[in-house]
Amino acid sequence: MSDYVELHCHSNFSLLDGADQPETLVARAAELGWPTLALTDHDALYGAVRFAQAARLYGLHPIFGAEITLTNGHHLTLLVEREPGWRNLCRIISQARHNAPKGQAAFPAEELPPYAAGLIALSGCKQGEIAAALLAKDDALALNKAQHYRAIFGPENFWLELQHHLLPADSALIHQQVALAKQVGLGYVATNNVHYATRSGQRLQDVLVCIRHLTRLTEAGDLLRPNSEYYLKSARQLKPLFPDYPEALSHTWHIAERCQFELPDGLQPLPRFPIPNGLAPGRYLRQLCEQALPRYYADPPDRVGEQLSHELNIINRAGLANYFLIVWDLVRFAREQGIRGQGRGSAANSLVAYLLGISPIDPLAHDLVFERFLSAERQVVPDIDLDFQADRREEVIQYLYHRYGPDQTAMACTFVTFRQRSAVRDVGRALGLPLETLAQGSRLLEDTVDYSADPISRLRELCAQIDGFPRHLGIHNGGMVIMGRPLADRLPTEPATMPDRVVVQWDKEALEAAGLVKIDVLGLRMLSAIDEAERWVEAQCGQSPALSQLTFDDPAVYAMIARADTLGVFQVESRAQSQMLPRLKPRCFADLVVAISLIRPGPIQGNMVHPYLRRRLGQEAVTYAHPLLEPALAETLGVILFQEQVLKVARDLAGFTAGQGELLRRALGSKRGEQAMVKLRDDFLAGAAANNIPTEVAETVFGQLQAFGGYSFAKSHAAAFAVLVYQSAWLKQYHPAAFYTGLLNNQPMGFWSPAVLVGDAKRHGLAILPVDLDSSQTNCSIEGQAIRLGFNYVNGLGEVQINRLLAARQAGGFKNLADFCRRTKLARRLVERLILAGAMDRWQLPRRTLLWQLGQLPYQAEELDLTFPIDEIHLPPLSPAERLQTEHSVLGLSSGEQVMSLYRTWLSGQGILGSWELSSQGDGQRVRVAGLVVVHQAPPTAKGFHFVTLEDEAGLIDVIVRPQMYARYRLLWRDEPLLIVEGQLQQEGEVVNVLASSVIALRGLEMSW
Ligand SMILES: [Zn+2]
Ligand SMILES: [Zn+2]
Repeated sequence: MSDYVELHCHSNFSLLDGADQPETLVARAAELGWPTLALTDHDALYGAVRFAQAARLYGLHPIFGAEITLTNGHHLTLLVEREPGWRNLCRIISQARHNAPKGQAAFPAEELPPYAAGLIALSGCKQGEIAAALLAKDDALALNKAQHYRAIFGPENFWLELQHHLLPADSALIHQQVALAKQVGLGYVATNNVHYATRSGQRLQDVLVCIRHLTRLTEAGDLLRPNSEYYLKSARQLKPLFPDYPEALSHTWHIAERCQFELPDGLQPLPRFPIPNGLAPGRYLRQLCEQALPRYYADPPDRVGEQLSHELNIINRAGLANYFLIVWDLVRFAREQGIRGQGRGSAANSLVAYLLGISPIDPLAHDLVFERFLSAERQVVPDIDLDFQADRREEVIQYLYHRYGPDQTAMACTFVTFRQRSAVRDVGRALGLPLETLAQGSRLLEDTVDYSADPISRLRELCAQIDGFPRHLGIHNGGMVIMGRPLADRLPTEPATMPDRVVVQWDKEALEAAGLVKIDVLGLRMLSAIDEAERWVEAQCGQSPALSQLTFDDPAVYAMIARADTLGVFQVESRAQSQMLPRLKPRCFADLVVAISLIRPGPIQGNMVHPYLRRRLGQEAVTYAHPLLEPALAETLGVILFQEQVLKVARDLAGFTAGQGELLRRALGSKRGEQAMVKLRDDFLAGAAANNIPTEVAETVFGQLQAFGGYSFAKSHAAAFAVLVYQSAWLKQYHPAAFYTGLLNNQPMGFWSPAVLVGDAKRHGLAILPVDLDSSQTNCSIEGQAIRLGFNYVNGLGEVQINRLLAARQAGGFKNLADFCRRTKLARRLVERLILAGAMDRWQLPRRTLLWQLGQLPYQAEELDLTFPIDEIHLPPLSPAERLQTEHSVLGLSSGEQVMSLYRTWLSGQGILGSWELSSQGDGQRVRVAGLVVVHQAPPTAKGFHFVTLEDEAGLIDVIVRPQMYARYRLLWRDEPLLIVEGQLQQEGEVVNVLASSVIALRGLEMSW
């Protein structure tokens, strides 16, 4: 038995009022030999799951609690004794959070009584009501409050909390509190209001407090605690502070012994889905699947029935039938509303998900493994991830809120954490470092920079400590948690920054660890773009192209992808993809699945990409490390490309069950799983040995699995995405105007800027019409076969201004500038931008003249009744270069010629080649090229190489920059928009790169860009 354990302890989940992670505190408690520790963060259970995990690791019993803030600003320490107490604490915190502005909490003290069961309350720090009354010499109030709390919680469950931090008034207060306790018939107990594990934590604690209050250490004054006594102290250290009341220390142990509550683990009770005829959920799910069968299979083969039964069995055993029904209902709602959406991720491994319309992929046709989604061995409940068109995702989220009620529906939270850059700024400010110094940002943390000044080394040290600390709360992008009872029965909720949004106090990892299931409702802009394109096609052709009916077998679509004419196409448009596609030459749907899986960190780091391509082209034999690997790896020519193959390899080589294989896959993907990895490696080698596989072979294969890691797509995920690759490519091939319009109206998305998309559209023969006062709509639109830029592209013109313009236009076209200004009353700078965008070119006046006219207008926003004082003046029109430049600055793109065409005569005279001339030069030739920099990449896997893409009027030019070359001309590569590059042509099939050997800026010819 321990003499003392800490019952009042804050972690960094008190958000800027606690300087250690829960894990650090638990580790220190274990060092002190304590069998238990309480965590009492301010108005939160944010850290509860991590605290519980750490406690399990160190063999401690965790006591859950919180320090609650009351509406009158006073504090109260609450500890969970048994189950109802957890529920009540969650409810109290939820209500306190909903009662106060974001980031704060306020619980009305008078509402405590119904929530008292199962809780043990301590009277709190000096901010507790009783201590505060005693300090204010209001003994009557203190007595009154003590009796009041005694009545609420019962004499056994309310304790006077004694704290001694070596401050002048501490001893006197303790005497008073003990006297009061005896008078009222209450116990008393010592705590230390811990804010850091060891004394040295004070420095960081003080800095955090300064960050919270936006002040500096030198100015923080009373905001900081006066000394460093607020750490985990042993009984031996505390005993001298309570000479008259040694029992106050051992009382902690009486309380701790009573707190036997364990964190609930496992699936939350889901809402009961209303099922007709009183069927059990499992029965109803089977019925729905069987009803759907004929729609998906004309003549279902036996294995379909077998797989269906197998899946339904596992789903039922896991108690997840209801969960599938809820997701099915959500998808059905979206479909009825015409909201485009589809499942992604591991759910596509499930035939049930396919039959319910949740996933677009038939797992049997693509040989997908159900156990990757859900297996008997796996402890974790699978999330179902759903993509919806981004512009309508909110409707889906609102549907869930309405269907299951705001009390039972919330989103996972995220913790916005300190990262180096933000830490430097915040910590530096708290330390009072000058702004000029802080402007150097995270460079201050680099060891190579020598700042001998001491504050910098302190800054460095504190930033390292604070890295990864939670700072405030955000909303997880789409993770919805639903429960069949109010969520606050299971975990606290609080309002999010976004109006009408509620988040739970646990993030994705905590939810998963605690066994709660969520549904990820994600927004995908490509789905919005495809949806819009489909509607444009329908408007133009009078018939919907019915993209969902496409059969993935159009040679023209594959030919387009194979020549890397994929700019704007989902997932296969990047520079890396365009380098790979002409070698891969996709011919069927499975090839698309391969294409998007190849360009991933896993296959790239595992050196899978080139072997795969060589084998596919017949340049290298397909071999296997062992014949047993052939079934798993045959479809990918002997290399590992998909996450699922990890499971198959482990099964075939080492006899792993699907569940064990999934454990292995997860361990490969996580950085923390080293211990698990050793165990799995032993199991793998033992299993392989049992199959008579030589140890060297087994070790080699395991090494390959490790190199492959977790940074790869599941085949199911890639397959779901490949559907969108095909649909978007099909649109580009057959309905380019609709395709580009859809893309332009759903930015930002994808790899390329709108300017590059517009350039690509022009190169595909589409006319891009400028913004026009009479013809443009809010968004880009289609006129005949041309794309008309929308007002949305005019920088600074928002919804309000556009609507005002459109409303004014209803009364008829604008006659002239004065008419326009009078009727729209738009701010002068916006009118100026419309002029520069070419929106008023229809009056056939040079833009410069219009600008001059605008300057002459007596412009007072509201009063504009004017006849124009048009003096005839003649200004030179803008040069083509000036036009381009101003259009770019206003629209971010230009409807006119590509800038390089202005230089072409000069460039040709210099022997500088255009993009169209490169493929005929021959490998190894020295060439000079020029263009506008549209992409600059330096991926971490490229070892210092930079990849720059130049655009000219006819296409793109890929330039490779060696590390030294980059370093020498860093400023040019980084800052100059127009470059002339000399280098060696590298040609491999249809893929052409220029390996740069020198570079200069293209400037000053006709304009300053
Ligand atoms: Zn307090
Ligand atoms: Zn406290």
